[in-house]
Amino acid sequence: MARVTVIGAGPAGLMAAETLAQRGHAVTVLERMPSVARKFLMAGRGGLNLTHSEPIGPFMGRYGDARTRLQPGIDAFPPAALTAWAEALGQPVFTGSSGRIFPRAMKASPLLRAWLARLAEQGVEIRTRQDWRGWDDQGRLIIAGPDGERAEAPDAVVLALGGASWPRLGSTGDWAGRLSARGVPVTPFRPANSGFLADWSPTFVERFAGQPLKGAAFTFDGRTVRGEAMIAAYGLEGGAVYALSAPLRDAVERDARAVLTIDLKPDLSLAALTDRLARPRGSRSLSNHLRKAAGLSPAAIGLLRETGDGLPPNPADDPAALASLIKAAPLILTSVQGLDRAISTAGGIAWDAVDERLMLTALPGVFVAGEMLDWEAPTGGYLLQGCFATGRAAGLGAADWLG
Ligand SMILES: Cc1cc2nc3c(=O)[nH]c(=O)nc-3n(C[C@H](O)[C@H](O)[C@H](O)COP(=O)(O)OP(=O)(O)OC[C@H]3O[C@@H](n4cnc5c(N)ncnc54)[C@H](O)[C@@H]3O)c2cc1C
Repeated sequence: MARVTVIGAGPAGLMAAETLAQRGHAVTVLERMPSVARKFLMAGRGGLNLTHSEPIGPFMGRYGDARTRLQPGIDAFPPAALTAWAEALGQPVFTGSSGRIFPRAMKASPLLRAWLARLAEQGVEIRTRQDWRGWDDQGRLIIAGPDGERAEAPDAVVLALGGASWPRLGSTGDWAGRLSARGVPVTPFRPANSGFLADWSPTFVERFAGQPLKGAAFTFDGRTVRGEAMIAAYGLEGGAVYALSAPLRDAVERDARAVLTIDLKPDLSLAALTDRLARPRGSRSLSNHLRKAAGLSPAAIGLLRETGDGLPPNPADDPAALASLIKAAPLILTSVQGLDRAISTAGGIAWDAVDERLMLTALPGVFVAGEMLDWEAPTGGYLLQGCFATGRAAGLGAADWLG
């Protein structure tokens, strides 16, 4: 039996720990925060989208360039295995209308509770308030706990320290410098699945921040996403924006702006909408007319004034121009919301730094998993699926290396 230390108690680290314990190793998980899996619990607030039901071909396509390196781990632990794993922990799942898979409980806490109990039965020791600070001169791990610093030399190590988004939940990305100093190439972090800044007027922010834009279609760079976005005081966020966030991010970084086209009435043709808006409006205000004739929400009507040149000069007399604006409102996004509030992180440990067992070639016996690796994916369950699958792959890799 070998002694393995897993650092980071998120989904990737806990999955690595479980995999190693099942293969008979003595596993200790060290976590810097006072409690484990804070980001996983935060994901649970949105229902905990565990994975996605689409066929594996398009599913893998969501990982872009990292697809080929993630493929073996996901083949070995595909969406069906992940849902079976959740169900074995007493958490039946369901598939939503969008194909996303969630636990019926729509939160992470019951799943995490059952998982921690099973890990304890498997002999996994979890220690919180244990901050990994790097390696000493003899290559031992330096761990800072409530009783001060100590050095440890386990037989193998799995690092599952997360990316750099939502740092207050524990993953700050501060490992990047430590690994680079040891010869591990790390691609710079960038926000992924993030919101974007827009130059809202103060009145718009005051009235509509926190309100959703529902059932719209968002287009950028030839790609259209149907869904919901959320108006934030700083700009626009939410599922549909996250789905377009990688090309939007590249554009704002390159050009200092990107124009997101919003169709607020995707189920009505331009002609049908023009007809509706051409109906006499009597004494109704323009807002009331837009609400009644086009079925727009107050937030959607407010948005029309914030996009492009705003409303046409005489909107009431120009139903065609008004309909065109509603069908293709051009919203200028000026920059990407920072890592602080991004759902996930692009960048991380470069793939050529690890072998097929997810071991760092510069640091034999050190395995890596989860969002630390350089991959990104849209929301839809692809992130957790990637973290669980690489956690398991790193656990198996370490078990294999330990012989
Ligand atoms: C608001 C929000 C909602 C989300 N919703 C979803 C969703 O519905 N579906 C989905 O697929 N994904 C979702 N995600 C993304 C998903 O939660 C992450 O991709 C996933 O948690 C990453 O797992 P990980 O194990 O790699 O890292 P993390 O979960 O970040 O865990 C890393 C752990 O390592 C610890 N750590 C870091 N450094 C040290 C150190 N030096 N010493 C000791 N411990 C350390 C951290 O404290 C942390 O607990 C969401 C993310 C956010 C922020």
